[in-house]
Amino acid sequence: MNPIFAETGTSVFETMSRLSVQHGAINLGQGFPDDPGPRDVREAAATAVLDGWNQYPPMLGLPQLRQAIAAHYQRFQAIDFDPLSEIMVTSGATEALAGALMALIEPGDEVVLFQPMYDAYLPLVRRAGGVPRFVTLRPPHWRFDEDMLARAFGPRTKLVLFNNPLNPTGTVFSGEDLALLARVCVAHDVIAICDDVWEHVVFDDNPYTPLIACPGMRDRTVKIGSAGKIFSLTGWKVGFVMAQPSLLRVLARAHQFITFTTPPNLQTAVAYGLGKDESYFRTMRTGLQRSRDRFAAGLTARGWPVAPSQGTYFLTVDIGRMGLVDDIAFCETLVRERRVAAIPVSAFYAEDAIRTAVRFCFAKSDETLDAALDRLGQAG
Ligand code: PMP
Ligand code: GLN
Repeated sequence: MNPIFAETGTSVFETMSRLSVQHGAINLGQGFPDDPGPRDVREAAATAVLDGWNQYPPMLGLPQLRQAIAAHYQRFQAIDFDPLSEIMVTSGATEALAGALMALIEPGDEVVLFQPMYDAYLPLVRRAGGVPRFVTLRPPHWRFDEDMLARAFGPRTKLVLFNNPLNPTGTVFSGEDLALLARVCVAHDVIAICDDVWEHVVFDDNPYTPLIACPGMRDRTVKIGSAGKIFSLTGWKVGFVMAQPSLLRVLARAHQFITFTTPPNLQTAVAYGLGKDESYFRTMRTGLQRSRDRFAAGLTARGWPVAPSQGTYFLTVDIGRMGLVDDIAFCETLVRERRVAAIPVSAFYAEDAIRTAVRFCFAKSDETLDAALDRLGQAG
């Protein structure tokens, strides 16, 4: 057995969801909305199942979906991707990440990872033979600077894996942060894998800059998106990956042997959904922003020290300000005694973990959030 998977524990999301069921808790741990998602998009999938072609679609994805993805990024981020040679559909962002790491890493290559990091990154990097080098982000700002990058990047750096907006903290990196990272990538001739799955979930009218739009990055970036996040349909697992043709060709070699294709009916529905007008995307954003504000205000009123969230489905509570130092013990007690599940942020670190931040998912109905606030009660 390969020790990387044999010795790793069960994902924190699965663990907390199981504990949540066991204790009859409200699950604000694993990140998924509790509404069923846009009805017209689900209807498009249902129609495609009943009336459509349900055999293997083309390996790179349905042509109409690749067209729709190209039009989407042109509309929202002013980036031109050629649908034929620069876009591939994958089974979720997770497959795109796994395939990109398998395809691009040679054993011994160094890969720069920003902690806190999504839990899949490190095992996938290691299994591909990569050697992780960490940039460790810390509260309250969770930002990086030139010295931190200088310590992590070196002559053996092949890749950087960058997630913006950042799960679990809800940080949206500024244009300046991105320009700095882009300069370092160019100086070290490094490829960036950009996990941009939260690109549409940015609040307070803040601008969102994708790293691929920074000078020197167009040809050295693999950009990854996910329909699961755009349409609040996290179980659909329809992802997409964009890169210049010679990079995309290599990614396609990996994809053809991992999943080969993604269900065509879901692809048809996502193609339809990406064409929805501006108001859909605005309403999704403002709805989530309202939920964030409702939950943050409720927590604050009860004495919980809430940290700001600029994007994603998540906000964090700084339990250090309550005199606590063990986020895992805190989450275990919380799910057992107050019957609300949350995620300890230390699970997103490989070393030098921050133990004082706890992540809550606010992508829930007002009733669910209010019920969770009632159960949480006063801090302490
Ligand atoms: N990356 C990040 C940062 C995520 O938060 C998630 C899911 N929440 C994924 C990747 C996985 O996306 P998908 O479900 O499309 O595989
Ligand atoms: N991305 C989701 C989160 O951060 C969970 C996905 C999963 O369960 N692996 O909560």
